Amino acid sequence: MVARNFFIGGNWKMNGSVAQVKSLVEGLNTINVPTQTEVVVSPPALYIDRVRANLKKDIGVAAQNSYVKASGAYTGEISPEQLKDLGINWVILGHSERREYFAESDKFVGQKTAHALKAGVSVIACIGEKLEEREANITSQVVTRQLKGIADEINDWTNVVVAYEPVWAIGTGKVATPEQAEEVHVTLRAWLASNVSQKVADSVRIIYGGSVNAKNAAELGKHCNAWASHSLTHSLISLLFLIATKPNIDGFLVGGASLKATDFNTIVQARL
Ligand code: PEP
Repeated sequence: MVARNFFIGGNWKMNGSVAQVKSLVEGLNTINVPTQTEVVVSPPALYIDRVRANLKKDIGVAAQNSYVKASGAYTGEISPEQLKDLGINWVILGHSERREYFAESDKFVGQKTAHALKAGVSVIACIGEKLEEREANITSQVVTRQLKGIADEINDWTNVVVAYEPVWAIGTGKVATPEQAEEVHVTLRAWLASNVSQKVADSVRIIYGGSVNAKNAAELGKHCNAWASHSLTHSLISLLFLIATKPNIDGFLVGGASLKATDFNTIVQARL
């Protein structure tokens, strides 16, 4: 079994001012990043340079979007090559707000993922169903279709983290249960095993996003993958422990609650 390090992302979306960003960075600089946990925050593009310059180096920085070209006449866009130039090693792609408000297709998200990876920028690739899709019982079809959009464009998944973010849970206060998240994560791994490889299915990190906050993180964190933090034996106790947990949830992507350093810290520390 492959050990997958825990991953916590903070998506600040289009929030903040110079003063707020300064204070958030100061707060984040007091966070103790646990071993075998990766923490990455994603400020608006305008502030990304100052965040990278002032944030402690054991917290990564992600852009919230990037384009499919290195440079040129693409007004308003940002290239992964430019992100690299600023020392930004991550980008969030395919967030449901971009799919919804900016009509980003599965194919385009796949192409942007491929270009970012080629430029050496790791990708947090977001997928997730809308409420009406869950109610129509087509969650699996939707999320595997979105995953295929990425799989069609890339060969190497080493630098990809998949974020399962049900749209009905984003910014709504309605968090998925650990069982609901685990069920989809299992579906995604099975799809990767059949359509990409068993190795990728075992090693790619799949994180959950949608209304994770300082209050529910402890409960969610209790259920997350335990591979890295618990030494496994073949004893019955270990097996029972594994069955009780949700071994396919490798962390969280956090929106609103990532804007307060104390809340974000609680989430970073939430895993058992
Ligand atoms: C997000 O936008 O990625 C997100 C998970 O938002 P929130 O935590 O606010 O639901």
